[in-house]
Order: sequence, then structure tokens, then C-alpha cells
Amino acid sequence: MQKQIKQIEYGYWWNCAECGTENAYGLTEAEAEEYIKDFEINNAEEVAEGETGEGACDWNYNVIAEENDEHIEEQQKCWKCDAVASKETRTEKAKFLDALIDNIVQK
Ligand SMILES: [Zn+2]
Repeated sequence: MQKQIKQIEYGYWWNCAECGTENAYGLTEAEAEEYIKDFEINNAEEVAEGETGEGACDWNYNVIAEENDEHIEEQQKCWKCDAVASKETRTEKAKFLDALIDNIVQK
């Protein structure tokens, strides 16, 4: 199989610190379908209250994952050069939020 960037439906992108290549963190369409199905089976109560698997998937992979730099947490490897995601690969969004929190704490 030819190497290529993961084709994600939910998630975000980060750049490898070694080779500068763009990488994707998140779920493919098929993985997302599975996640949504499992979520709705395992969270019947929330679903009854209006929560949806799509909503949970969107929140976890499009919002929370990026804020937490999940690709670093999970030591994801660059699809091209195999370098493990280092601290230098933090997303702008995660850095921004951290700076914001530091700012609030200092005041
Ligand atoms: Zn790389």
C-alpha cells in the first residue's frame, strides 16, 4: 500500500517537526461511522436527551482532540518519515489556548 496522509472525516491536521509534512489526526469516514454507532449504543440516556453520535464525534475529534494535542499524547508517527510527534508539533490552537490560560492565571 502506498503511504499517504490519513483521510479523515473528523479531526485536525498537524505538521511534522522533522520533515514538515502535514499529518492528520482523527477518524476516517468508516471509523467515524463505527464511533457514532458505538456511542449511540453505549449512551442511550444522552441520546434520549437529544445528544447524537455525530455531535459527540464532532466535539471529541474536531474540538477537544486539537485543544489537547492528542497526536502528541498518543505519540502519533508522521505518515511520511515515521518521526514521533514531538512537543514542537503542537497546533496553533492548543498553543493559543494555553497562552490564554497562562494569561488568566497570572492576573
Ligand atoms: Zn515527517
